[in-house]
Amino acid sequence: MHQVLVIEDEPAIRNVLKVLLEAEHYRVIEADSALRAEIESRSHKPDLLLVDLGLPDGSGLTIIRRVRAWSPVPIIVLSARAQEEQKIAALDAGADDYITKPFSAPELLARVRAALRRNVRGAEQTGALALGRIRVDLSKRAASGPDGEVHLTPLEYRVLECLARHLGAIVTQQQVIREVWGPERLGDSRGLRVCIMNLRTKIEADPRKPAYLLTEAGLGYRLRVDETER
Ligand code: CA
Repeated sequence: MHQVLVIEDEPAIRNVLKVLLEAEHYRVIEADSALRAEIESRSHKPDLLLVDLGLPDGSGLTIIRRVRAWSPVPIIVLSARAQEEQKIAALDAGADDYITKPFSAPELLARVRAALRRNVRGAEQTGALALGRIRVDLSKRAASGPDGEVHLTPLEYRVLECLARHLGAIVTQQQVIREVWGPERLGDSRGLRVCIMNLRTKIEADPRKPAYLLTEAGLGYRLRVDETER
């Protein structure tokens, strides 16, 4: 049974989350402040954190940074519409995904399931990606499609690897640049944009309407794979 730590100061929202999650047989631990969240996350070692960004005694951002310093546990941010600009900061601080309030129950549960699955996969260190008709083996650095071998440059492999490490989650532009090009290139996103464009030409059936290498407007990118092929 998976344990979910819900960090939210509004009792009504916390209660909705608790009811929803418990109906799906998750065990719910609650925290109504940043301080409580710190205590609960250390004592219970939850499998997933749902973090509200606006808390009475501090920002959810602080919690994300603190938890990330010692744990790879999946973190989903709950953000109000007024906190849109904070989403990117939350993702950069190490959150895996975000949901905007008001959220729908099926969407929330789907995100929770995806985040928990990712965690299991991360541990398996999957080396091969099924992207429609293209198969990319990251460990062998080989890619093939219906017409045979697909040639990817070392840089393209590194960008794919970076996105695959956060499979299904949003990775900000800054994060990809930091991991692939290095921190000294943070201000320059042109190389990344060109690389993404080239990758799409090689792996997407229609590069203008990507089905796998997705853009999250204003935030970054998300790599999706076919669930059934894994
Ligand atoms: Ca709040």
